[in-house]
Amino acid sequence: MKALVYHGPGNRVWEEVPDPQIQDPTDVIVKVETTTICGTDLHILKGDVPAVTDRRILGHEAVGTITEVGDAVTGLSVGDRVLVPAVTNCGKCSYCKANQPSHCQTLGGIGWVFGHLIDGTQAEYVRVPFAETSVDRAPEGLDDEDLIFLADSLPTGFQIGIFNGNTKPGDTMAIEGAGPVGPGDHH
Ligand SMILES: [Zn+2]
Ligand SMILES: [Zn+2]
Repeated sequence: MKALVYHGPGNRVWEEVPDPQIQDPTDVIVKVETTTICGTDLHILKGDVPAVTDRRILGHEAVGTITEVGDAVTGLSVGDRVLVPAVTNCGKCSYCKANQPSHCQTLGGIGWVFGHLIDGTQAEYVRVPFAETSVDRAPEGLDDEDLIFLADSLPTGFQIGIFNGNTKPGDTMAIEGAGPVGPGDHH
């Protein structure tokens, strides 16, 4: 398949790489139909995220269709159209149970693994670990380009600005750094 591969600061190449394979029974493989770039990708490309090493496929947002499911996956099927969010979560550890999947302990305390610690979504196919607790089924009638905002940028602002900020309808608020992430923009 083709993928956008990081080769050190300032250097990324759209190149041919092996297709991803199921590695764990909780994985699925998704054919990526829409992806996007994040400000974080730009930090990576500047060399600001040393955990991202040479040959890593970039990207952590996708809408696509499942092409393969691991043996332990029962709630998702080949052909399902799904949203692959930036944060992966096991659904079982204390942080996931406390509704803080971005601190998933099974994933080393960091829910953001795509395009960071494992290969990401700026590719024709992506392996999605802990798929049943991580992906969302795409509702009918919404375009990929609407859904993709739910992978990272909109929920970041929503969770930080609205939930953590305890804002309610009718409140007056200031939005700082009103980029794509809006109130949650902490970059
Ligand atoms: Zn992002
Ligand atoms: Zn977890």
